[in-house]
Amino acid sequence: MSTILSPGDVKLRDGRSVDFANLDVAATAPCLRVVADTVAELLPFYGSVHRGAGALSERCTREYEQARETVADFLGGRDGDTVIFTRNTTDALNLLARAVPPDSTVVTFDAEHHANLLPWRRTVHLEAPRSPQEAVAALERALRRQRHGLVSVTAASNVTGEVWPVAALAEVAHRHGARIAVDAAQLAPHAPVDLTALGADYVAFSGHKLYAPFGAGVLAGRADWLDAAEPYLAGGGASANVDGSCAVDGGVSIGGPDRGIGVRWATGPARHEAGTPNLLGAVALAAACRALAAEGHREQAERALVARLRAGLAELPHVEELRLFGPDAERVGIVSFAVLGEDPGELATRLGRDHGIGVRTGLFCAHPLTRRLLAEATARLDRSAPVPAQAVRASFGLGTTEAHIDRLLDALRRR
Ligand code: PLP
Repeated sequence: MSTILSPGDVKLRDGRSVDFANLDVAATAPCLRVVADTVAELLPFYGSVHRGAGALSERCTREYEQARETVADFLGGRDGDTVIFTRNTTDALNLLARAVPPDSTVVTFDAEHHANLLPWRRTVHLEAPRSPQEAVAALERALRRQRHGLVSVTAASNVTGEVWPVAALAEVAHRHGARIAVDAAQLAPHAPVDLTALGADYVAFSGHKLYAPFGAGVLAGRADWLDAAEPYLAGGGASANVDGSCAVDGGVSIGGPDRGIGVRWATGPARHEAGTPNLLGAVALAAACRALAAEGHREQAERALVARLRAGLAELPHVEELRLFGPDAERVGIVSFAVLGEDPGELATRLGRDHGIGVRTGLFCAHPLTRRLLAEATARLDRSAPVPAQAVRASFGLGTTEAHIDRLLDALRRR
């Protein structure tokens, strides 16, 4: 696999140097060298996208549109699908929320990241299920009871790493005339995300979690709702024709009746990509997609690392993992846990300062789920113990080694 750019060794409090164990990859993944090289190659050709006729502009426009095609291939895009570059997953799901037809309600589970919990306007929240099968049954019941336009679910939880049964949920949604959107922010870095194989109508993910730098994400899927929706941002690029006289053929009038402006919005991805686009972000994201498609996600090795960490945690009497589904559920490289007897913030500082390990503590932008699982995990450890305010999350990917996992376990043992 292409190498990961690494910060190299870090100095510990006792003066030793160790390679930094980045166990916070689910928040933001390190950059692949091939991605950095691709961006560096393009830098001398910096020019405007879709806005000029010179050689630089032509090249940049071509690279931007090729990036879109790469992403469409990476996602198994179908006829009638579109790929829109956004800032990140949050932006992508907010865009989709604006494009859902106004009379449609949206179903989510309250296990979602806030990015898939908060953007929807007319929502029904189903209680987080205790197994993938229960998720499918709960959706079936909800859609039998009431007609909904869209179901939006995570493909893999950013709290537990558990993989959700997207294909089965898609089958239920479609049988009841609903569409399904998939928050693939955490699955895409770990396993293929294929619109056709999943039967998903929409998928959203972020470049910075997929071994590319910050600033670019994707919303991909059925074009019709997006083509019919008001532009996500109004401005240049999203408008095909603007006329100060109020009337534009095939367009709408915005502003007051006296001095209104006529506008015909663009169709296709441009409709929702107003303003100068993030060329380097899109090209970097596409380079990461190419690398993962060519070299695979290292799923086998990652499963072994997850098993190693979970087995080690299970031996620690003061630590209990957070899980929604059963212990044997399929997972990506994310494991969160409750720790008794040490403040999570202080623990994170100690891990960084004394062991060269980066983890995340908190409620992980999934407050309802994390609070619930934290309370359950604490009760399994000690019914009388107060629930810690925060959980600890270790997450990993392509650069993670067994030695990093063992270092974390060793550090947790030494409290
Ligand atoms: N969905 C999930 C499952 C996530 O884990 C995250 C980020 O952690 C997001 C959505 C939001 O991603 P971003 O911050 O890149 O918009």
